[in-house]
Amino acid sequence: MSKINIDNISRLTLANLPTPIQRLERLSEEWGVDLWIKRDDYTGIETSGNKIRKLEYTIAKALSEEAGVVITCGGIQSNHCRSTAAVAARVGIKSHLVLRIDEEPPLEGNYLLDKILGAEVSFISRSDYSERRNEIMKEIADSYEAKGIKAYVIPEGASDGVGNLGYIQAVREIKKQEKELGVEFDTIVSAVGSGGTYSGLYLGTKLFAPEKTVYSFNVCDDEEYFLNVCSQIATDTVKALGAEIEVKKDDMHIIDGYKGIGYAISRDEELEFIAEVAKKEGVILDPVYTGKAFYGLCNEIKKGNFSKSKRILFIHTGGHFGVFPKQEQFAKLLVVSSDL
Ligand SMILES: *Cc1c(COP(=O)(O)O)cnc(C)c1O
Repeated sequence: MSKINIDNISRLTLANLPTPIQRLERLSEEWGVDLWIKRDDYTGIETSGNKIRKLEYTIAKALSEEAGVVITCGGIQSNHCRSTAAVAARVGIKSHLVLRIDEEPPLEGNYLLDKILGAEVSFISRSDYSERRNEIMKEIADSYEAKGIKAYVIPEGASDGVGNLGYIQAVREIKKQEKELGVEFDTIVSAVGSGGTYSGLYLGTKLFAPEKTVYSFNVCDDEEYFLNVCSQIATDTVKALGAEIEVKKDDMHIIDGYKGIGYAISRDEELEFIAEVAKKEGVILDPVYTGKAFYGLCNEIKKGNFSKSKRILFIHTGGHFGVFPKQEQFAKLLVVSSDL
């Protein structure tokens, strides 16, 4: 194994780690696989989900540069933005979120929490978001700097060569837990949205667990897009670490076909699936990421595409607050109370 200096890179302790690993007893039986789940939805309350693993590195870097404000971006219901707002408040600096909207949004879910957590919010249109979000964040950073406040810009999802390190470390955490549990996972599965989690898991397994293969289901864009994004992020990380790893798109596995009708939009069958998993296992998946990825995994298992996997570990990357903005759609699908 090549020597790398990951342990010398500064990191804050923000997440509740290690997150538990649990066996999904009934679904394993029903789907005919040995299926386990890693509860990265338990990394915190305000900071729940996968972004906090990345932010342990990102915020450490921002503080080392004496930032008084962190600026980041995402969709209106961004888990990453909510985690960033929470962490900024926790370390005593400001947060400024650039949120993508189509129309004036209701104050609910993650956006409500952003406001409760004291984040400054700027709204931008879908087209500005895709074409010039980084430029817009830079302009906001300049306006803080003009007031004498140092600003640190975090890219979408904290998915860069810095945040990525959080999921390299998660692989080491899994290795340690395997020893304690007396089991080994040959397959790791997650959702992919901005690429940092996948590229971290990819590099982590290359470095520390080459026996494992990582698969991700995309919840937006397509396979080619994510192969490009993830290999770029992984390449940046490899450079920063000075590691001797060859990043190859051929051994990255993005499974396309389950984003449904679009990012953050749910088909009824996806919400029904979330309710079914909740009822059988007591685990709540989110509609935007984990619900779609796990629905994809279920379908691919049924098609026989994971028949070579001996033991599968699905990473629950969080997103619970995203359930609440779907209450109307859920209400139509669930049988609501009966008379006694
Ligand atoms: C952001 C997010 C993901 C995707 O992770 P990326 O690193 O952005 O690809 C998955 N699940 C949840 C709940 C998220 O908030």
